[in-house]
Amino acid sequence: MAAYVLTRAGANVVMLEAGGPWDNATDSAMLLPSYASPRRGAATRARPFGEFDACIGGWDIEGEPYTRAPGTRFDWWRARMLGGRTNHWGRISLRFGPDDFKGKSRDGLGDDWPIAYDAIAPYYDRVDDLIGIFGSRENLPNHPDSKFLPAPRPRCYELLVKKSSDRLGITCIPGRLSILTRPHNGRPACHYCGDCYRGCKVNANFSSPGVLLDPARSTGRLTIHLNAMAREVTVGQDGLASGISYIDKDTGEDRHVEAKVIVLAASACESARILLNSRSTRFPQGLANSSGVVGKYLTDTTGTDVAGFIPALMDHVPHNEQGVGGGHIYMPWWLDNRQLDFPRGYHIEVWGGLGQPGYGFMGGIQRYPSGGGYGAQLKNDYRRYYGATVGFSGRGEMVPNADCYCELDPSVVDQWGIPVLRFHWTWSDHEYAQVRHMQETFRALIADMGGEVWAPMPTKEQGYGIAAGGRIIHELGCTRMGDDPGSSVVSSNCQAHDCRNLFIADGGSFVSQADKNPTWTIMALAWRTSDYITAQRNAGAL
Ligand SMILES: Cc1cc2nc3c(=O)[nH]c(=O)nc-3n(C[C@H](O)[C@H](O)[C@H](O)COP(=O)(O)OP(=O)(O)OC[C@H]3O[C@@H](n4cnc5c(N)ncnc54)[C@H](O)[C@@H]3O)c2cc1C
Ligand code: SF4
Repeated sequence: MAAYVLTRAGANVVMLEAGGPWDNATDSAMLLPSYASPRRGAATRARPFGEFDACIGGWDIEGEPYTRAPGTRFDWWRARMLGGRTNHWGRISLRFGPDDFKGKSRDGLGDDWPIAYDAIAPYYDRVDDLIGIFGSRENLPNHPDSKFLPAPRPRCYELLVKKSSDRLGITCIPGRLSILTRPHNGRPACHYCGDCYRGCKVNANFSSPGVLLDPARSTGRLTIHLNAMAREVTVGQDGLASGISYIDKDTGEDRHVEAKVIVLAASACESARILLNSRSTRFPQGLANSSGVVGKYLTDTTGTDVAGFIPALMDHVPHNEQGVGGGHIYMPWWLDNRQLDFPRGYHIEVWGGLGQPGYGFMGGIQRYPSGGGYGAQLKNDYRRYYGATVGFSGRGEMVPNADCYCELDPSVVDQWGIPVLRFHWTWSDHEYAQVRHMQETFRALIADMGGEVWAPMPTKEQGYGIAAGGRIIHELGCTRMGDDPGSSVVSSNCQAHDCRNLFIADGGSFVSQADKNPTWTIMALAWRTSDYITAQRNAGAL
């Protein structure tokens, strides 16, 4: 987003990208049947979400380790490709609400952001206009509406979920996804193949290469260096950032690029790593780190999943209900924390239906009432039970805590000799109580649908089924914003307190999570930061 806005404002931009090229039009596996591969879509090391998935990278990248403090667990998903994780993300595109910027004022926990919703609302509008998003106007408190394209109609199983959620008093509305249901800004509408996670060959959904980088390149002012692994930000005699030193992964050579302004957008933790590795006599604990806060207040979304077998969905009339590659319905946070034993909320994502079967689909027929079998009966069982499972994923807000952070590992380096991150992670009772509530809610929904959950309710000792830190892949913080240079890394314009020509344009600047997915806010903030850079340059202040 920064490259898009800055090139259009007239800047010459050099982008360093640690991964290789990616072009949806040629590289996406959209419309490919799973049976086209002998693996039937099963995961590989570089594609842990399946061989057709559009993200190259994963939890474990050869030659690029990270470590965890003993006894703690944080899993770090990294993309290594042009466009990063926007190539396979879920496209759930939610605005944070006014309350989400003022958590501490509401319940005394964590910290408030130095900005309010009003400061970012015009940028959400611009992101909506540029990229396109579908949804419905609901006027719900703390779930601001976007400038929506029409939403697709619910699928069969989603209608069943809607009925149960109405009965249980849970808000259930059309989904909010950055997928085009009408032609928009020269891009065609979705043809409902359901393959979004593979990347869309026609660019009907949002991925940054087709929607942001192609227009940025067409200005003639964007140069992209692929396979360029940033090592550190270099600093001049004047204390300002002078450029980036990086490894050319194709040749193994060390290179340097000079710049008047540096924008880090390597994802929240990686940008922190680059800053911590930018040590000099002037900045011995890393650049922009006089506060010691780089790497601190790392957060992830809380999460747990429950799936149920719904007999009412068995023996359906075969029909095509693929739709967009994501849920057509969505359940935003609907309760009042004053009546609950945990702070902050969560939203619910719903999954199920008749997507294209691939390797391991249905998770094992032996779990269904027939118990498995052979021959014609087995094939018939697959037909009868296919599409009769509905799942719920809770995605909630954790409260930032001082025990969740990353730092440089004192002894481990990657294949280029660059020190790697070591993670520390601790959930608090707030998150456990919230996740217990998710489990109870999802089980109540499935029971109301006449269904059955085969997995028992996870116990307290099992953390009520909470996913490990990092596992929901919404890591934020590490270079948080604030007005006080003693307790934050960047200002409310995402400008480093210690170095005025250095900016952050990923999720690092977030002061807190919300009960929303973060990427729409990352992009709105990146646009706002880029406008600020332009204004400062024009005023001669940078
Ligand atoms: C499966 C999945 C589903 C998701 N679904 C949603 C969703 O529905 N809604 C939502 O809001 N969010 C979702 N997310 C999260 C979303 O993808 C991220 O919030 C978003 O992509 C973050 O953008 P980013 O630019 O900060 O980081 P990334 O997308 O990770 O991009 C970082 C880029 O920097 C490059 N890079 C990293 N290190 C270096 C280095 N040292 N030098 C040079 N380049 C480097 C990487 O190769 C990459 O291209 C999902 C994520 C995943 C994995
Ligand atoms: S579902 Fe729509 S947006 Fe997604 S890949 Fe298919 S055509 Fe593209």
